[in-house]
Amino acid sequence: MRDYKLVVLGAGGVGKSCLTVQFVQGVYLDAYDPTIEDSYRKSMEIDKKVFDLEILDTAGVAQFTAMRELYIKSGLGFLLVYSVTDRQSLEELIDLREQVLRIKDSTKVPMVLVGNKADLEGERVISVEEGVEMSSKWGKVPFYETSALLRSNVDEVFVDVVRQIIRNEMEVQT
Ligand code: GDP
Ligand code: MG
Repeated sequence: MRDYKLVVLGAGGVGKSCLTVQFVQGVYLDAYDPTIEDSYRKSMEIDKKVFDLEILDTAGVAQFTAMRELYIKSGLGFLLVYSVTDRQSLEELIDLREQVLRIKDSTKVPMVLVGNKADLEGERVISVEEGVEMSSKWGKVPFYETSALLRSNVDEVFVDVVRQIIRNEMEVQT
């Protein structure tokens, strides 16, 4: 069976690597090199079937590069991550999402909107309501707040994207 390629996108420092490593390895790495872009593999059982996931944890500041275009092209599902402590990081997702839709040339691209660092209540600048609002603007893209630190909603966001991919494939077949 082929791999399900997932791509984790978002501004620097929002917790893309922490979320990915927490999901794949079950550990929280507090000091992850911000320049490392790497892919990870994990097999996961969903609804009694095993899926082989390949997860690309992206990095880098270039908003648009040939590299980015390539991995968006080959990605089947996308995690669009911001930090609830960083307003700019939510704004950056607007452009990123448009790039994904344009490159995939589809309006039905499996994706989730992820507000990470939900454990940092004292530093929060983006409310849950604002996340919900963004997700409605995007046509009800599933929205979760996560904490890579506390491992809350980490599996859920990855499973949600995979389920969307499966659903899309079934629609194509029938
Ligand atoms: P990336 O640039 O998006 O890959 O961000 P990283 O995953 O490297 O995370 C940047 C830093 O944010 C980490 O070193 C952690 O200190 C912090 N961080 C990431 N996720 C969380 C989280 O869920 N809660 C808290 N409190 N800090 C986090
Ligand atoms: Mg990183």
